[in-house]
Amino acid sequence: MLALAEIFYSVQGEGAWVGTPAVFVRLAGCNLNCRFCDTDYSVKAFLTAEQIVARVRELGGECPMVILTGGEPLAQRESSDLITALRADGRRVHIESNGSVPVELPPDVWLTVSPKERLHPAMAARANEVKLIVDGRVPEEWLGHFEARSVPTFLQPEGNKRSNIALAVEAAKRDPRRFRLSLQTHKFIGVR
Ligand code: SF4
Repeated sequence: MLALAEIFYSVQGEGAWVGTPAVFVRLAGCNLNCRFCDTDYSVKAFLTAEQIVARVRELGGECPMVILTGGEPLAQRESSDLITALRADGRRVHIESNGSVPVELPPDVWLTVSPKERLHPAMAARANEVKLIVDGRVPEEWLGHFEARSVPTFLQPEGNKRSNIALAVEAAKRDPRRFRLSLQTHKFIGVR
């Protein structure tokens, strides 16, 4: 059984896949406790991987993209069963992780790592994109973990706040080969 917070069908608002329709599966619980966290990842239901796949089909029809998010989706051991079941159903699985839980992932799974603390080197090495939250400062201390690979690195202003946006834009302009800006565009258009 997987502890689930919510499932909904929307559009990816952030990062490299911005604008792409996707079913979001928010798994409950997180192994970290960030001060700025505003996500409700409390448990609303316990479902099997097959039940979650059925719900994805019901909400998203043939939508190829499914995003596992949290909380920390990889903190639940059964998340591997869910990834397997979704891939068997023909879905392209994306994972939004804080990168602190080492898990081996199939090569076709897209991994977004947004490091907060305890970043695991295996997950830094596996990341397809990096999302750094700009909250009063650009957390440049994480950059060294990703330097060996040319992985897209997004600066995302926390809460879409003006001061954080200004910091992110200035940093991206200073280092245009390294950074791209990621805004929470779904919030601008009033969708989840
Ligand atoms: S890692 Fe993400 S979900 Fe977990 S507490 Fe931090 S911001 Fe919230």
